[in-house]
Amino acid sequence: MSHLTMMEKRTFSLEEILKNNVILSSKDRKVRIYGLLNEGRKSDVSAYVESDSINGSFYSVKIEVEPEIKHLVYGSCTCESFEYHGNPCKHMLKLRNVFQKNLDKLYNKK
Ligand SMILES: [Zn+2]
Repeated sequence: MSHLTMMEKRTFSLEEILKNNVILSSKDRKVRIYGLLNEGRKSDVSAYVESDSINGSFYSVKIEVEPEIKHLVYGSCTCESFEYHGNPCKHMLKLRNVFQKNLDKLYNKK
């Protein structure tokens, strides 16, 4: 197996991300939440977040938040910024903001 095939996939095309059923899209459609799981006070949120520099290219982003206090407990993203710095990147924060803004919608749908 070559090194390339072993590398984790970083970006996803619109066609690829549409294979997952979207629970909620942000108004600008840059954030598309497809997974939501609640454990106690925490929520695990999975989404695709579109790159600002390359249209139609999405990163796979996962966050763990405490909605009541808007606290980001943990997150991961397939972008280079997160890989190199390991700090919460703008995609995680964007997802957190969209999630917080749409709490009612997300939980009424369940
Ligand atoms: Zn990122």
